[in-house]
Parts: sequence; structure tokens; C-alpha cells
Amino acid sequence: MAKYVPSIGLEVHAELSTVTKVFCGCPTTVGVPPNTQVCPVCLGFPGVLPALNRQVVEYGLRAALAMNCEITRPSIFERKGYYYPDLPKNFQISQKRSPLGLHGHLEIGVDGASKRVGISDVHIEEDAAKLLHPEEDTAHSLVDFNRGGVGLLEIVSEPDMNSPAEVEAYMTAIRNMLLYLDISEARMEQGQLRFEASVSVRPEGHDELGTRVEIKNLNSFRAVLGAVEYEIERQTAALEKGEALHQETRLWDDERGVTETMRRKETSEDYRYFPEPDLVPLEIDGEWIARVRSELPELAEQRARRFAAEYELTEYDANILTTEKALADLFEETVKVGAPAKAAANWVTGRLLYHVNEQGLDLADLKLTPAALAELISLIESDTITGAAARQVFDQIVTSGEMPKTVVEALGLTQISDDDAIASIVQEVIAEHADAVESYRKGKENALKFLVGQVMRKTKGRANPQVVNDLLRKKLMEA
Ligand code: ZN
Ligand code: MN
Repeated sequence: MAKYVPSIGLEVHAELSTVTKVFCGCPTTVGVPPNTQVCPVCLGFPGVLPALNRQVVEYGLRAALAMNCEITRPSIFERKGYYYPDLPKNFQISQKRSPLGLHGHLEIGVDGASKRVGISDVHIEEDAAKLLHPEEDTAHSLVDFNRGGVGLLEIVSEPDMNSPAEVEAYMTAIRNMLLYLDISEARMEQGQLRFEASVSVRPEGHDELGTRVEIKNLNSFRAVLGAVEYEIERQTAALEKGEALHQETRLWDDERGVTETMRRKETSEDYRYFPEPDLVPLEIDGEWIARVRSELPELAEQRARRFAAEYELTEYDANILTTEKALADLFEETVKVGAPAKAAANWVTGRLLYHVNEQGLDLADLKLTPAALAELISLIESDTITGAAARQVFDQIVTSGEMPKTVVEALGLTQISDDDAIASIVQEVIAEHADAVESYRKGKENALKFLVGQVMRKTKGRANPQVVNDLLRKKLMEA
């Protein structure tokens, strides 16, 4: 049977984190009461005039240049006509024929290998309002116009991805890029990052792409991957049975885990694009482009390579550290204030991530400062506290923001390395656990571990484990 190759492209809509909206001066603060950040422009009143937000262009330029795009000069705003309750003007101001950036690419890493995904187009547009469908009142829907008119960046990839793993790597790379460029908060649960996927499948060896299906309504990595996997299977099964596929738009049903036909054969003609008469062509001068290009920050990929070389980390650790900008910053600042790189990397990729995942925390919620982490590491290296005590301190300061020394003093966690002090506790433990002592003498190494554990318990983890081990062995030999 023929093998089938999927080709996947993604459209990403990212809400830009500018202070005001794209065509009016309304603020973009999230979490405020509905319809409190609105004006006649973003409510789409007749006769109002849009005025382009310079910061939106600046942010768009950053992304377009970071993805190696050619900057279109001039780029043109157009009206994309469609009727929906979240769009009172009945058109969205977007860019179609002359988008801000064209012909770029982004490098993604999959299984240690690097792959280049083409970016066909990067453009600026306005977000629609948010529709709410209250469960208690199914007869009505509510519209929150606070989101209407917020600046969006749409990033359209070529159908260059051939597996769900590549799609996941691409989404991660896009999200990281937005965070590293500081142009979007990219919080998916807030709808600040939304996806549409196009999926087609063709027999191996065929150059021409198969019939393309677009999937809308994808608001999380999980939804995108679920929909892509479902479509690859559905299309492959259809081709194997000799059935025809339709070019169509399908909707992802998150609960049932399936895609369903929404409409067939949608083309851009349906949107009746035409140039927005109220905005002049956007001519970005060479100086502006050159300045933004020169100010581009180091991105995740470059940073991972630099971390590996500069701090002698494994490629694996360097990649984990750089997936989230906040993590990479914490690591690097900790090293800058004096911590050894290997120890800092271990704490950040180990205990910190464990803690974050375990508690379901957001990195932004953490109060741990680089100075605090560096101090904690120095307390271990100077044998002031044990590894066990350090973990206890860490779990507290990671969300409290306290300095480790304060916590060590408050909890009385200073390590006991004094042989005499430990010796008397060792003696106690030996006296209390004759059974274990007996088994150790019969050659059971595990019994020693148990006895060490008992000493650590009595000292609340403050005894130097090496000293405990040595003393125990010595005493057990003597007795
Ligand atoms: Zn407004
Ligand atoms: Mn769009």
C-alpha cells in the first residue's frame, strides 16, 4: 500500500501587547469590565477615521525581520468584508496583497535536527470583539468590544511541516519568538495566540500537494495537534479507500476530538478585499527598518547555542533553559551574580520546573530572584546547609520571594557538621534500631541507608550526610 505524506501549514494570530489599540487610542488592558475600553472608532460607528498606531508597526517589523522577511514598501491596508456580530463595521482592516512582510523563514528544532519552515506572509490587522454565550441565558449572546480593534499580527507559514511533531516545534518557536521580541504576551488561555491549520495528504513520491482542508477554532497547542492528527488519519483513510476529498473549512470540536465540515470552498474573493480608503499606504523608510534590525534581541535558538558554548552546558539543558525566556533570564542573571553555571542550570531545569509543573504555576507567578538562587547555591557549596534543607528552602522562597539566609535562620536549618553532635545522635539511632544494626552486620547494605535516614530524621535533614555515613560505618564496626 502506498505511504502518505502530510503537509501542514499554520496561520497564527497573535495579539500584540501595545498599550493602545491599532486604529484608536483605547487601552488594551485585559481583565477589566466588558465594554469599558471602547470608542466610536473601535465600535465601528459610521464616519469615524482610523489612525494607525506606530507601535503596532514597530512590533510587526520586529517579527517580520526576526523571521527573515522582506519588508514590503509600501504595504497596503485593505478591508476584508464579512458580516458577524463581533465586527460592527462588517469589515476587518487587514492586509492582503501587500502585507508588511513576505518570503521569510523560521528555523525549528525537531529531535535534535534543525528544519527551515517558510513564512509566506506577516501582516497587521485588527482583532474582532469577543462573543460570550452565557449558559444561563441561551437566548442571548453578549459582545465585549474591549478586544475589538486590538492590534493583531497574522503569521502565515508555507505548508512545510510534515508531522505533528514539526507542528508542535513550530508553534513553540513562534511563541518563543513573540516572547523574546517582547511584542505579545502570547497567553493561550487568554486567547492571545490563536491558530488555523491547513492539512493535506499526498502519496509518497508525488510532488503536487493533495486537497487542502483548513481547520479553524484552534486555541491551544493541544487543539492544534489533536486536529492535525485527526485530519491526517481521516484524509489518509479516505485516500486508501479511493474516496475523493473536498477543499473545505472544518471546525475542531475540542470535546469530541473531531473536525467537522463548516463550509466548502472558501476563496479570498468571498471577502471582497479592497484598499482601505481611510488609510494611506504604509511606507516604512530604510532607516526605521535598519534600526529595528540592529535592535533585534537574541532569539531562543541562538541563545541555546550560546549557553551551550559559554556555560559548558549540554545541548539538552541549553534547550530546556531557553524554551521560556523567563527561565533563560533567571538562569543567566543567577550566573551573573556569581553562581556556578552548572549548579544554576540544575536548579532551574530541575527543582524549579518540577515545582512549576507540580503546582501548575505560571513562570510569571514566581518570586524567586537571581540573587536568592545564587545565595542558596552558595549556602550549599559552603556546606552551610544540606541538599535536603536546600530543597526545603527552595520550595518556600520560590513563591515567597524571601532570601534563603532568612529562611535558613528562621527554620534552624544550618547544617550540623560537628562530629560530636552527630556522633551522639548516631549512638541514639544505633541503640534504638538493634534489628537494622543486626542486618547490616549480616551484610545488608540497605540497613545502613535506613540508619542514615533515621539520623537525618532526628536532625530534620540538617546533618551532613557524608559525616553521618562515615560515623555510622565507624560505630557499626566498633560495636
Ligand atoms: Zn477605540
Ligand atoms: Mn486574520
